[in-house]
Amino acid sequence: MKQQDLFIYNSLSKSKEKFTPIHEGAVGMYVCGPTVYSNVHLGNCRTFLSFDLVFRYLKHLGYKVRYVRNITDAGHLENDGESGDDPILKKARLEQLEPMEIVQKYTVDFHTIMAKFNALPPSIEPTATGHIYEQIHIVEKIIEEGFAYEKNGSVYFDVLKFNETNNYGKLSGRQIEDMVANTRELAAQSDKKNPQDFALWKKAEPQHIMRWPSPWSEGFPGWHLECTAMSTKYLGNHFDIHGGGMDLKFPHHECEIAQAEACNHTSPVNYWMHANMLTLNGKKMSKSTGNYILPNDMFTGENDVLSKPFSPTVTKFFMYQAHYRSILDFSSDALEASEKGFNKLMDAYRTFDEITTSEKSSIDVESWRKSCYEAMNDDFNSPILIATLFETVKFANALKEEKDTISEKDLALLKQTMSDFLFEVLGLQDNVSENSQDGEKLSAAVELLIQLRNQARANKDFAMSDKIRDELASKGIQLNDGKDGTTFTLN
Ligand code: AMP
Ligand code: ZN
Repeated sequence: MKQQDLFIYNSLSKSKEKFTPIHEGAVGMYVCGPTVYSNVHLGNCRTFLSFDLVFRYLKHLGYKVRYVRNITDAGHLENDGESGDDPILKKARLEQLEPMEIVQKYTVDFHTIMAKFNALPPSIEPTATGHIYEQIHIVEKIIEEGFAYEKNGSVYFDVLKFNETNNYGKLSGRQIEDMVANTRELAAQSDKKNPQDFALWKKAEPQHIMRWPSPWSEGFPGWHLECTAMSTKYLGNHFDIHGGGMDLKFPHHECEIAQAEACNHTSPVNYWMHANMLTLNGKKMSKSTGNYILPNDMFTGENDVLSKPFSPTVTKFFMYQAHYRSILDFSSDALEASEKGFNKLMDAYRTFDEITTSEKSSIDVESWRKSCYEAMNDDFNSPILIATLFETVKFANALKEEKDTISEKDLALLKQTMSDFLFEVLGLQDNVSENSQDGEKLSAAVELLIQLRNQARANKDFAMSDKIRDELASKGIQLNDGKDGTTFTLN
């Protein structure tokens, strides 16, 4: 293990705690994945990128990390998972596709977007539909333990009974009395003993075609159940870290704790981590309200909110300039400032290749490097890390102007540390910035191709013009036709 102790803010204890893994040198981490019925928006991406940073830093520290992130492809109903339509089925009807075609389409979209952001794939990516057997088994155990009851083919968790011996509400801080019933819930509501109870298994209505046989009915699992089944299957009944967006604390994670405790008599997770929301115009980005931007519309600039396109790496840099537990609002001005900052940092990084070294250093590289680790060890404080990395811009200028000196050894350490944090930990990509020399060369080459494409179009040689556009797109260079001509963006 490198450098000092790591502290993590635990949402359960509401305090920063020193991180001690259950098994020395290894970490088990579970993060709730997307419900795949539509394209992921930038808000979803922020949460997944927050945990990509956690995954990357733990690996950087030398831990062997098993990172499990599920795909919700069944069971997540519209109203907090409890009632209403299944959005996957709804979309399948709308698009006249099989539910599994919807699942496939949006899982692929999710993976493509995560790859554009240079997020690492998890170690295991299990699906809810692939773990029906395990979920049924957990329901059976919870019934056996006396914490669930069957009614008309559905099974519900008995929250009040559980609360007699355990503490339901300890994560979200909610009081049982305040957990009122979801008023939108109609038919199924009457089957529950108490409004706080939640579904473990639901009998399928005739039109609900995603259904499986079970001891209680042909039906489908409750949304919260899949995460208990898949986290414990791959990480054990008691594991290190569980993450997700802040909005999943209640009911989803509260229910996960209850299910696991009822079933396994042990608290499932040592460190609960919750990532805060990305907002747009001060309101949470959300699929259901339509207040969102899709990542691709950000990369191409085709949206009503932002003044220009922003690359995935700049978008990610912008997100990491806020701490994962702070709310972050999206705006053109903030993104433009991030883009400038990112380019400056990359230029500084390249500058160190041209510096001549001296006998002695006047720059204290070791203490600067220590500050980088201190920032990340303080609950993954990426804004402080980035501010610390910005100090290298000053170093670069002072070295260029020969106001400071650096030894060969310190220069190597400085470059290695920058590269470790910029590329390995933050997972940024040195996409060619406009003001760098490579950027100018690339721009010139693409401009030439744009001119050739314009000529081909003028000659009605559409096969050639399409070929130029498509081949460039396949290399991650997107041409955008606008009223003032064609521009390009790097995806
Ligand atoms: P869903 O597909 O709705 O289950 O959401 C996937 C993940 O995105 C969950 O961890 C949510 O908490 C998270 N999420 C949803 N909206 C936002 C947002 N506006 N900002 C950050 N994370 C979000
Ligand atoms: Zn979950």
